[in-house]
Amino acid sequence: MAHTRHTGKPALDPARVRSEFPVLSRFVRDGKPLVYLDNAATSQKPALVIEALDEYYRHYNANVHRAIHHLAEEATTRYEEARTVIGSFIGAENPREVIFTRGTTESINLVAHAWGRKYVGADDEIMLSEMEHHSNMIPWQLLAKATGSRLVYIPVLENGELDLDAYRERLSSRTRLVALTQMSNVLGTINPVADMIRDAHRAGARVLVDGAQSVPHMPVDVKALDCDFLAFSGHKMCGPTGIGILYAKEELLETMDPFHGGGEMISKVSWHEATWADLPHKFEAGTPNIADAIGLAAAVGYLSSLGMDDIHRAEQALTAYALEALRTIEGLRIYGDAANRGGAISFVMEGIHPHDISHFVDQDGVAVRAGHMCCQPMMKKFGHPAMTRASLYLYNTRDDVDRLVEALERVKGFFNRAT
Ligand code: PMP
Repeated sequence: MAHTRHTGKPALDPARVRSEFPVLSRFVRDGKPLVYLDNAATSQKPALVIEALDEYYRHYNANVHRAIHHLAEEATTRYEEARTVIGSFIGAENPREVIFTRGTTESINLVAHAWGRKYVGADDEIMLSEMEHHSNMIPWQLLAKATGSRLVYIPVLENGELDLDAYRERLSSRTRLVALTQMSNVLGTINPVADMIRDAHRAGARVLVDGAQSVPHMPVDVKALDCDFLAFSGHKMCGPTGIGILYAKEELLETMDPFHGGGEMISKVSWHEATWADLPHKFEAGTPNIADAIGLAAAVGYLSSLGMDDIHRAEQALTAYALEALRTIEGLRIYGDAANRGGAISFVMEGIHPHDISHFVDQDGVAVRAGHMCCQPMMKKFGHPAMTRASLYLYNTRDDVDRLVEALERVKGFFNRAT
């Protein structure tokens, strides 16, 4: 059995991991075994996550924090345990710093409203990178419009890395916030966020890290990074859809205004005003997504049992294999050549539209994404309205990559004959 160099723990065994994800044994398109390479969009779910949801609804479904009956106590305990498990997964000091949201998008919108409207003024700047997902762009555009503040961008270089010199030059005492993805969903680039956070703090700015593509794939520790905010989604990390996390430093959450108003988030209410509940409940108005919070904790438990270091290492090795294999295809150009990168691999093929590529490889059972990948301005900068993206996760194998390459060769053959 292969062992990891440092820990002596068995290395990730993709065959065993695969067997834990029911959908991966499916056949699609008239009997083709599924090759799922759309993980940056959403990951598949292991049986134990599906079972955790099933168990909640079958055995202890009740609303949390309200009633005193047995089921309500059980549901509340499990919901709050989930918060603790997820908090320690990202190195948060206190579960009070962990807010359940619907996902990365809602987490970022929460910060833009509850922090941004209070602390960003007309002369201030918000700094983003050119590789941000629309989820980490539009909330800041809306905030800039509402407050009269200005968006400043960190350029992406040809090789898919950020222009860090430009970043340092553009940081100033006007920069109120830097909102930055840790891993690009298009280029795969892993940004040096720890260093960038240090620079931002020196300039007096706060930093929000979009962890939608990093938290599922590599160890992320909010204390080591010293980020002020971290947003991520459950569904990209083996958890359910409709649940995600906003981590924020307690001192920030304490002074921020609420995002949504309603039940659960109040302390005392009179006809014309109200006071707010303690953290984290101040930011969780209404009945929360109880089942999926518990499901996400199950996913986090699963990822932790495999080890985030091992998951990352296995993905890096598979990414290197995939990049090399894809580069053998003539006329295929990969965008994203950063020295430090993850397994989101976007490419174009000469003379073939990305939607056609996606459609044709799907006939062979291979699921990839085609489109602008929610990064329209960056796509435009690179001169392509759309690309094709294959994105890897812990259950993918070299065989999956080989099937993709064979399917792409067939697409090429078809279009070459047709022209
Ligand atoms: N940021 C990045 C980098 C992403 O890849 C995504 C999802 N594609 C998001 C934000 C938005 O995540 P969600 O749709 O789960 O809110």
